[in-house]
Amino acid sequence: MAKVKLGYIWLDGYKPEPNMRHKVKVIDHDGPVTLADCPEWSFDGSSTQQAEGRSSDCLLQPVAVIPDPEGKNAYLVMAEVLNADGSLHTTNVRGSFDDDDDVWFGLEQEYFLWDDGKPLGFPENGYPAPQGPYYCSVGAGRAFGREIVEEHLDICLDAGLNVTGTNAEVATGQWEYQIFAKGAKAAGDAAWLTRFLLVRTAEKYGLTINFAPKPVKGDWNGSGQHANFSNTAIREQGGKELVEKIMKSFERRHKIHIEAYGSDNNQRLTGLHETQSIDKFSYGVSDRGSSIRIPVATANNGYKGYLEDRRPAANADPYQIVKAIVGALKEA
Ligand code: ADP
Ligand code: MN
Ligand code: MN
Ligand code: MN
Repeated sequence: MAKVKLGYIWLDGYKPEPNMRHKVKVIDHDGPVTLADCPEWSFDGSSTQQAEGRSSDCLLQPVAVIPDPEGKNAYLVMAEVLNADGSLHTTNVRGSFDDDDDVWFGLEQEYFLWDDGKPLGFPENGYPAPQGPYYCSVGAGRAFGREIVEEHLDICLDAGLNVTGTNAEVATGQWEYQIFAKGAKAAGDAAWLTRFLLVRTAEKYGLTINFAPKPVKGDWNGSGQHANFSNTAIREQGGKELVEKIMKSFERRHKIHIEAYGSDNNQRLTGLHETQSIDKFSYGVSDRGSSIRIPVATANNGYKGYLEDRRPAANADPYQIVKAIVGALKEA
């Protein structure tokens, strides 16, 4: 039998946002690994703010497995955290809501490549040239860290993660990728797995990933995590009335969503830099200054297609995002 490496990934108990944790289990196995081949496992919850030292075991319940293109005979296993008795752990957002396979998501994950306390590309002292040339740029002095971004994209695609695109963003050293998945929990899993691969790839280069919504003060763009979403009704039925009914539900629930959409988001949702201010809810066709944008293609197609919630911050837990949106659609 072959030795196969299973890299378990779970979310810890840190607030306001969890960190990823990872450890490897070696099993004897021949042939492709499926979820059923991944055993339940445990970890020391007292080291992750998930348990007290005297009763420290937490359980890892595998929920998704993908090949790890970077390793030999290696896989990555996304796991939910359970209490020692098998009950839902309070930090387990994924396990706290009913899945909805009908909802599709495209999350636009923005981030900064971060080099020793500043964006990659920032000079030793002071600031680089103002924003303008960096967005979708090419060339030294404009695009910083492309090799990392391209490596990450290839690894994700090799792992079967449906990254749909990537681009250099508005600020120096800021990038985005989009991850698409069908089903709320599958979307959360895919988002966390792409993040894991991003952080690990950057680690090889001695860099970190900064997901903060406003890491550089002043006239520098913050980082968001626009959540594009649709269900069968939006995709196939459409109509202005349907979209307005859905928007009413989102408007009623604005506070719930802001709570789910990441800490420090007030620093980013200011009404400037293509955002709506955090205490207002609005929607509009093609409007990048609104909370929810109706893409022009959706509007032109009889309000059929998908919608874009522009409020989530880059640091928001993707499980919280999809949970909130599934809830809003259910209540529409
Ligand atoms: P933007 O113009 O806001 O920068 P992007 O191209 O970065 O948009 O991201 C749009 C995302 O929306 C992509 O990941 C895409 O796969 C996703 N998407 C497209 N159609 C749908 C749909 N019907 N439901 C959910 N997401 C969708
Ligand atoms: Mn985008
Ligand atoms: Mn963007
Ligand atoms: Mn967008």
